Amino acid sequence: MVLRIRNLLLTSLLAMAGLALAAPAYATEQCPVLDANNPGARKTINNHLCYSITQPGEPAHFASTPEELPEDISWRPAAGHDLVFSHTESNYWIKLRVRNGSPQQDFWYLKLHYPLLDEVTFWQKSGADGFVDAAPPLATGDLQPFASRGIDYRYYLLPVTLEAQETRTIFLRIHSSGALNVPLGLMTPAEVVAESNHLTLVHGLFYGALLILAAFNLLLFVSSGTRYYFHNAFYTTAMAMFLFAMGGFANQYFWPDSSELANLSIPLLLTISPLAMTLFGWSFLEVPKGTTSAAALRALAWSAVGLFALTFVLPYTKSILINTALTLIVIVVLSVIASIRWRQGYQAAFWYLAAWMVMVVGALIYASAAFGYLGDYQAREVMMQAAVGAQVVLLNYAMVQRWRLLNQKLLDVEHQARTELELKVHERTSQLRNTMRELEQANRKLESLSLNDALTGLQNRRHMDNLLPELCRETRRTGQALTLALIDADHFKRINDTWGHDFGDHCLRLIADILGRHVKRPRDVAIRFGGEEFALLLPGTDRDGAARLCQNILGDIRGTTITAPNHEKITITLSAGLAELVAGEEPQDLFRRADEALYQSKSAGRDTITCAKPLPELPTSSSTN
Ligand code: GH3
Ligand code: MG
Ligand code: MG
Repeated sequence: MVLRIRNLLLTSLLAMAGLALAAPAYATEQCPVLDANNPGARKTINNHLCYSITQPGEPAHFASTPEELPEDISWRPAAGHDLVFSHTESNYWIKLRVRNGSPQQDFWYLKLHYPLLDEVTFWQKSGADGFVDAAPPLATGDLQPFASRGIDYRYYLLPVTLEAQETRTIFLRIHSSGALNVPLGLMTPAEVVAESNHLTLVHGLFYGALLILAAFNLLLFVSSGTRYYFHNAFYTTAMAMFLFAMGGFANQYFWPDSSELANLSIPLLLTISPLAMTLFGWSFLEVPKGTTSAAALRALAWSAVGLFALTFVLPYTKSILINTALTLIVIVVLSVIASIRWRQGYQAAFWYLAAWMVMVVGALIYASAAFGYLGDYQAREVMMQAAVGAQVVLLNYAMVQRWRLLNQKLLDVEHQARTELELKVHERTSQLRNTMRELEQANRKLESLSLNDALTGLQNRRHMDNLLPELCRETRRTGQALTLALIDADHFKRINDTWGHDFGDHCLRLIADILGRHVKRPRDVAIRFGGEEFALLLPGTDRDGAARLCQNILGDIRGTTITAPNHEKITITLSAGLAELVAGEEPQDLFRRADEALYQSKSAGRDTITCAKPLPELPTSSSTN
């Protein structure tokens, strides 16, 4: 039954591959005795095999032991070809004569390295054509528990012990309902062990790698919560399980005592694998919601689930056919969706497609091998494993690519955001800088406003209060001269009273202009510190120099004719008091002395200059009219 299922599956794969069945070729020469001691002869065992096929209805078909075979049964030589049969419901009889030519007893295994046969029976008869049992018959196959094989190995191994010079005839009866391979080999125990070691390594590596990839993806799923990691783990496990079952390992290790499970496992896995393929493709390809593709995948996933349940009730032949068809549909649909997604610009779909192509190549290898184009069962298995392994690796590579693309996208977004932020910061910084510059200018303006007199534009009292102590300190330090001149307009009240306050202001501005014209040295400062009171701070100028300056100023103002509002021509005069700083003198003392000198000028009749006598002794005061 298992074989029938398998053969139906293989037929489906063949249909997909578009391959034609190869008709076995028959040779005419008889099959000679195999010299078991000759390694070369053992390698060409197909030159020594004879076979016979009994069709249902023939008398020979009812034979259940070699003895019951009709005498006239026609044995055909395999003539070096692999035994590949494609007809159903037949019994296949195979005959091999072996001889131990050595002088002592020796031991071999007849190996049938096709793990999944329904019914296989071995007989060993004495002699070249004898019918006396030389060893008990071995009846085994997938319809029996795994222990029926005698030796715990996934291939069938028949122990053959030959006495010195003994010839023995080995019969095999295989029942099948479909195409099957009968790859036989006669091996020494050492060869069996060596081959088994080699295969153990290959299979261990293969299934181990798949298991690790599945576990790794499962861990990625647990840590990231990303669904396609889970689906990848699911898919990898499903593919590994399918090959494990097809390779006979599942029967050996998972359900050795249950021929029901041995039968059910393949059709069940033929629903689980397409389900896993669908789910993984769905999430990996990021199929957009609401599209036809998404609807198709949903339908396929539910079909797989439905068929899983149906497999328990449907006859095996039917379920295997339907499930294989589903698998093929899933492969085709996913390939189409992957190409659509690729065309839509989803780059990771390229690697997914590449992985599927590898898978299709694997299926072609499988199909061609199954129908005799590739006779070596082990080579086929290794190639299938290579194809599936390459597919799984490519799919994982596709995932890495997908992750890389996603990461690149994130980096681009982050880079863009950072550039925008930098631009904004730059913009704000320059705005802030401009504002600060404006603020600074405003502050400077405010400062100068607070130190300047609004009417005349000269410095004001506050400036003098700041500057005078500073200049006094500097004079103390450098020993330079510093003279303070206080200048007051004479009888100014009268001007206001006579021509009005505005004219008074006009006169004050005129006085300021004249002061400004005469005070030319860079460090000299002219100040309006009261209504019609002015001061000159003259660092580096002694009393005499200051007196000359004031004389010029007083002379200038005296000689300036001003037109009053009533067009009357008038002149104004100024009085001045000077004091030169003496060592150790405080600013207020200097100011007081200058003020006293001014008072003296007023007292002396105005329009005059008085120089305060230097401290401590009072030198002669000079006055000019
Ligand atoms: P003296 O010769 O003794 O200095 O007599 P005077 O009238 O100048 O002095 P007094 O101190 O008696 O008067 C000062 C006058 O200056 C008073 C006021 O009318 C005038 N004055 C003060 N500040 C201003 C001002 O800002 N504008 C105008 N137009 N007049 C002012
Ligand atoms: Mg005055
Ligand atoms: Mg005054």
